[in-house]
Amino acid sequence: MILGIETSCDETAAAIVIRDQSGQGIIRSNVVRSQLDEHAAFGGVVPELAARAHVEWLDHIIAQAADEAGIALGDVDAIAATAGPGLIGGVLVGLTTAKALAASLGKTLIAVNHLEGHALTARLTNNVQFPYLMLLVSGGHSQFVLVRGVGDYERWGGTIDDALGEAFDKVAKLLSLGHPGGPAVEQIAKSGDAKRFKFPRPLLREARLDFSFSGLKTAVRLQAEALAPLTDQDVADIAASFQAAVTEVVATRSRQALERFRVEMPDAPPQLVVAGGVAANRAIAAALTGVTEEMGAVLVVPPVALCTDNGAMVAWAGAERLALGADDRLDVAARPRWPLDTPDMRIGHDAA
Ligand code: ATP
Ligand code: MG
Ligand code: FE
Repeated sequence: MILGIETSCDETAAAIVIRDQSGQGIIRSNVVRSQLDEHAAFGGVVPELAARAHVEWLDHIIAQAADEAGIALGDVDAIAATAGPGLIGGVLVGLTTAKALAASLGKTLIAVNHLEGHALTARLTNNVQFPYLMLLVSGGHSQFVLVRGVGDYERWGGTIDDALGEAFDKVAKLLSLGHPGGPAVEQIAKSGDAKRFKFPRPLLREARLDFSFSGLKTAVRLQAEALAPLTDQDVADIAASFQAAVTEVVATRSRQALERFRVEMPDAPPQLVVAGGVAANRAIAAALTGVTEEMGAVLVVPPVALCTDNGAMVAWAGAERLALGADDRLDVAARPRWPLDTPDMRIGHDAA
């Protein structure tokens, strides 16, 4: 039984998760406090405010997680916390709290890479077997990762500028739809004409598995400026046309990534696992359903609450690592940057 702590961005989260001997996961509690209200007036996450809110709330959230699970904190086997990547102030709050709890309760500390939390969630929710391809599309990341095993990752491409969720957020901002932008853009796009504007599909013709969204965002801005003042219909049409452009890009890239998976892992059934908040987008999910069906691949989309940042994903990654003997030192560092495909993700290799 593991306590998981997540504070790397704008969610203060804690969860109690059990991993049984057969490797099956059970979520006993999963408490998330989003800081949307704190940051709303600024149109994005303010790192200093985020860190202060984590300090204020984390103890309560952890107590609530233990309470809802019906346990005392001393009952857990280990304490896992996100040690990076993320906003360093917030990561320090969560990791330091985890260290203090581990030291005072005499428990094992597991320093979790936030991206590994996203990568392994599908094993908690859907019992997915290795290897599989992960498409992580969130506010801070857009990348394909080959997941070979716990701690064993290969990045197959990522964004060279904005993350996909960030592109949704920026488009929402320039259409005055508020923050976070993804859900707002998706909602208003329903009443829009996706064919009215032909926005660019950046890098689409290239073979590499990278994304670029900043040029698309600029094209949207120029279009909005050219039409200003925007009618409600203009806003809906721009949102729909933008969503159509990114959906086509994500679908095409996913097809290419699955083709590569087929070539490199001919004996493994092709599986595509989606993670990150953008997985909530119905248009993108529908396109991925189409691509995987057409390719004879399995698509796994965990429930949205587990695709966005939460404590259960950190607890689960900690549980998977603990089962393989992980035991991190109390002086393990918080890291603002920490790519998944580094050797120090391997268990037994001390994090830098
Ligand atoms: P990270 O996990 O990379 O550190 P994050 O906390 O911003 O960053 P998540 O919490 O996983 O990421 O997801 C939030 C992002 O998902 C936001 O950018 C938001 O706009 C986007 N998003 C949420 N719902 C939708 C939707 N329905 N359509 C498109 N984007 C969405
Ligand atoms: Mg978030
Ligand atoms: Fe995340």
